[in-house]
Amino acid sequence: MLICFAGAPKRGMIVRLMNHDRNDDSNNDSNGDLRKRLTPEQYRVTQEAGTERAFTGEYWNHFEDGQYACVVCGEILFESGAKFESHCGWPSFTEPADRRISAMALGKRASDDLSGGNSKVEDRLDESHGMIRVEVVCRKCKAHLGHVFDDGPPPSGLRYCINSASLRFVPR
Ligand SMILES: [Zn+2]
Repeated sequence: MLICFAGAPKRGMIVRLMNHDRNDDSNNDSNGDLRKRLTPEQYRVTQEAGTERAFTGEYWNHFEDGQYACVVCGEILFESGAKFESHCGWPSFTEPADRRISAMALGKRASDDLSGGNSKVEDRLDESHGMIRVEVVCRKCKAHLGHVFDDGPPPSGLRYCINSASLRFVPR
């Protein structure tokens, strides 16, 4: 079994984040629409970089044939063929739908980038919560998806650990 490590904030931090009355001016006009269109959990995860509790999401134990789209913008991000049982409580994939893997995900320099910077998922350095991790966001709409770790199965050796709340399953 894999060692699971999703780096979820401690419970108190989640409560503070949820109760925090966000009033910053970085929110754009569509923010109110998003609050109406998404569930509170989908909004917290995708727009506030939240993490759903393990084994609570819709897709951690879901293995139907199909595609997983961004819950915010609808872009196809992952394929069911790349999904594997990680026993971590979150949907886990070995690669994005377009099979483009960034150098950052592989722990390499930008010059080794296999994605050409155009993958449907974008990787960002995340130094929050006292850890150094690689955050994964939707390139099109910048919704937070999850993190990518280097303890996945071959051939990529990667585990894209993604929140169910960031995804919408599209049956094939
Ligand atoms: Zn998106």
